[in-house]
Amino acid sequence: MSFPSIKQVRAFVVHGGGADYHDQGSGHWIDDHIATPMSRYPEYRQSRQSFGINVLGTLVVEIEASDGTVGFAVTTGGEPAAYIVEKHLARFLEGARVTDYEKIWDQMFFSTQFYGRKGLVVNAISGVDLALWDLLGKLRQEPVYHLLGGAVREELQFYATGSRPDLAQKMGFIGGKMPLHHGPAEGEEGLRKNIEELAEMRARVGDDFWLMYDCWMSLDLNYATRLARAAQAHGLKWIEEALNPDDYWGYRDLKKNVPKGMLVTTGEHEATRWGFRMLLEMDCCDIIQPDVGWCGGVTELIRISAMADSRGVMVVPHGSSVYSYHFVITRHNSPFAEFLMMAPKADEVVPMFSPLLLDEPVPVNGRLKLPDTPGFGVRLNPACTLHRPYTH
Ligand SMILES: [Mg+2]
Repeated sequence: MSFPSIKQVRAFVVHGGGADYHDQGSGHWIDDHIATPMSRYPEYRQSRQSFGINVLGTLVVEIEASDGTVGFAVTTGGEPAAYIVEKHLARFLEGARVTDYEKIWDQMFFSTQFYGRKGLVVNAISGVDLALWDLLGKLRQEPVYHLLGGAVREELQFYATGSRPDLAQKMGFIGGKMPLHHGPAEGEEGLRKNIEELAEMRARVGDDFWLMYDCWMSLDLNYATRLARAAQAHGLKWIEEALNPDDYWGYRDLKKNVPKGMLVTTGEHEATRWGFRMLLEMDCCDIIQPDVGWCGGVTELIRISAMADSRGVMVVPHGSSVYSYHFVITRHNSPFAEFLMMAPKADEVVPMFSPLLLDEPVPVNGRLKLPDTPGFGVRLNPACTLHRPYTH
């Protein structure tokens, strides 16, 4: 049987919505005085957009097979990532077999290693890899999770990330993760406010609902330790991404410092098997949170997940909607998933990648049965304008 080969790779950018969920207007909880590494500069403290969190925009990668079937994926990276896909990565795909994703990944990674390894380049590689899996699923008329080994459970179960865990609880989620609002530069008063906010939310949701703090790399070891210890009285389940992602030594110490039973999580801004090997071998955390659109795609996430499994570490991917869901449903060490509340007041469930994607499934009562639609089961919304800045 002759299986279609890859005819063409195309990279597009789109501004507003899509994978760049940080590109929201003012008044959205996601940009309301969230603690970041830039919070040490008062002029960049109120808004993450002020320091450029939304500067790149969304990358859309399309891969067309010789029979005309098109697979696609979205991630962040915008024009610079589009350049890398068109000018560098496309050569390793065009003319290759659609089934050769291992060789293609290897060639994309090692050909870019002299300027890549992490960050933007791996975002671009991830986008290509996800588009390839989407194409493979469409050609085989199977959802991607079938290709990854099949579902190990009936449905996905979600916690919600947003400013209103109390509302998420009413919507059926198993927990709520709030952004931390004050970093070390805001001193003792900021620390007190962080704890008060947690205590207030705990009073609203009762004793059993999970509450977590996402610290978005904003703290130092001492502050994170003090926050974790003070938060124990209010049942904080985990402290997420407290430190600079390069500070493996800090994470190792934080994991020793937090109260027994409280989990340390990180990895949202980590990439590849080599980055996660550091987190795992140095015993930095209890849960790793790779973003499948940033860590190297599904092909790499399979390897990262196997390493974590051998150490008894859970893998709960960061956001990423269907690109995460198709993986999470196939792994016993990924027992639940994240849902990012994209409504400005975090008061209703809306699709994470709206308006760019059509048919994007969302949790109902905090749960979701994945549809059997081929590939990742989503379509590009023709109402969104895609721009192809480079060709090759
Ligand atoms: Mg996070």
